[in-house]
Amino acid sequence: MITLSEIEVETPKTLEEALPKIDSTRYRIIAGGTDVIIQMKEGTLPKKKLLNIYQLNELRYIRTDGENLRIGSLTSLADIANSREINEFATILAHAAGKIGSMQITSKATIGGNLGNASPSGDCIPPLYALDARVVVASTKGSREIPVKDFFDGYKHPDLRQNELIIEINFKRMDDGEDGLFLRHALRLAEACSVVSVSIWLRRSVRKAEFSDARIALGAVAPTVVRAYESEEIVKYGILDEDRIEAASNAVLGSISPITDVRGTAEYRRDIAVNLTYQGLHDLLARNVG
Ligand SMILES: Cc1cc2nc3c(=O)[nH]c(=O)nc-3n(C[C@H](O)[C@H](O)[C@H](O)COP(=O)(O)OP(=O)(O)OC[C@H]3O[C@@H](n4cnc5c(N)ncnc54)[C@H](O)[C@@H]3O)c2cc1C
Repeated sequence: MITLSEIEVETPKTLEEALPKIDSTRYRIIAGGTDVIIQMKEGTLPKKKLLNIYQLNELRYIRTDGENLRIGSLTSLADIANSREINEFATILAHAAGKIGSMQITSKATIGGNLGNASPSGDCIPPLYALDARVVVASTKGSREIPVKDFFDGYKHPDLRQNELIIEINFKRMDDGEDGLFLRHALRLAEACSVVSVSIWLRRSVRKAEFSDARIALGAVAPTVVRAYESEEIVKYGILDEDRIEAASNAVLGSISPITDVRGTAEYRRDIAVNLTYQGLHDLLARNVG
């Protein structure tokens, strides 16, 4: 356990001032602190100086840019849940952000922190996989853009180099031909991590009850969030009837490798993953055939 007097903090006021200081061997980045402070209290973080980026207001935005939506990494989960643009053009993400923690947590917690923490139960991550989002990271040497599905190398391990900061998440806005949702199972309604979560994105085809494209992402059932590619193939093309929904839901088992922990056994997680996918596909079908 660490005491407050032991913590050293630097607080840059601009991105220009912050970037030269980013160095994961010397500093731990802290944004909203809702993960970092808990991990420090639990003593699970190696002792390092904190680099507090919370005052970099230039990283707090939700912007439409042509067909894309751009979200600054310091945007709070409450701002995402309440944003008109996100609710209209990335409903899946608004829905997920609205289910995280309490008002006290969501007003401090940032989307960059959800990605930086890289937990497979991070609730913003499955919707970002389903939206096929990109993560923009920057250092003094420039920036690079990484598809979110490639951003996690392993459990709690984001693809961040020593001097990089997450600055933005962007993705193509959902249009009228697309629909999606986020479902999660947690042990309580609020203040609880997901035991399993599922996010589904579908593109409607010209024929009723048919979908020409699908992305299905699952959280908390593997070391990182995973795409259920086999299920997606089953959903794509052909009428989405009961048999196809059942086959696609069962097929998620080929993409996941859950563990047993305090929140549930591996077997329980497998059952929930199949059931949430089944429920999600049913709900989307019902919504889209009227
Ligand atoms: C009571 C409680 C309930 C919670 N419920 C949920 C929940 O339901 N669902 C859920 O997903 N999470 C939940 N959380 C976890 C947490 O709130 C989220 O993960 C949140 O998004 C973290 O954001 P933050 O800004 O607070 O991150 P921080 O705690 O500041 O940082 C988290 C990690 O990301 C790194 N980091 C932060 N910003 C950047 C950046 N821009 N670039 C690079 N690295 C960065 C930090 O170094 C750290 O490793 C809960 C936490 C608490 C305390």
